[in-house]
Amino acid sequence: KKITIAIDGFSSTGKSTIAKLLAKKYNYIYVDTGAMYRAVTLFAKNNDFVSTDALNKEGLISNLNSISLSFQFNEDLGFAEMYLNGKNVEKEIRTLEVSQLVSKVAAISEVRKKLVAEQQEMGTAGGVVMDGRDIGTVVFPDADLKLFMTASADKRATRRYKELIDRGDKVNFEDILFNVQERDRIDSTREDSPLVKADDAIEFDNSDMGIEEQFERICALVDD
Ligand code: C5P
Repeated sequence: KKITIAIDGFSSTGKSTIAKLLAKKYNYIYVDTGAMYRAVTLFAKNNDFVSTDALNKEGLISNLNSISLSFQFNEDLGFAEMYLNGKNVEKEIRTLEVSQLVSKVAAISEVRKKLVAEQQEMGTAGGVVMDGRDIGTVVFPDADLKLFMTASADKRATRRYKELIDRGDKVNFEDILFNVQERDRIDSTREDSPLVKADDAIEFDNSDMGIEEQFERICALVDD
């Protein structure tokens, strides 16, 4: 039976790494919902609805219908890339700049409503692994398996820093550490669908656990 797997947790806890491995092993669809919030944020930034010190909520809300999101599988990469209005934005949505704005945009109820509806549609057939902040609580409250990932802030920032440096971005560690913690703070305290562990989610702290060991344990849960 093809099941629905919900993976939630704090920023940079290895959610997408686990999700991609699971999708590959079980031949499931992987949906990175963070990419969708990031793409809406990129749209908002490009149209001056959001900046470091301002947010034009009404402006963005009245333009949500002009945002079309899609995922297209990239054979070479082995996962789906994010497209915003027909353009591949996979690289642009991962910048620190977008990371610094995304939690503000993700706190807007109208944005969440649009994205949650699209996510639920992608998951109706089952055989899906979706990662985000509200998958087990809001998007798929009846998911067959719910995971909640945590790790120390320092471990998470180190991981994210390495990713950005590896792809050539000029960033410093302190900014990344601040951003990871700031996003967790905003995501956990927003009014609509705050980041919280679902009661029936299984928690994984990977501060000191390698990804392989964790993946093995999670596969055992899927096979169960
Ligand atoms: O997963 P990622 O770190 O790329 O997500 C970026 C941001 O998008 C999060 O910090 C959060 O503000 C928002 N998000 C959300 N709900 C989700 C996925 C992401 O609010 N399901």
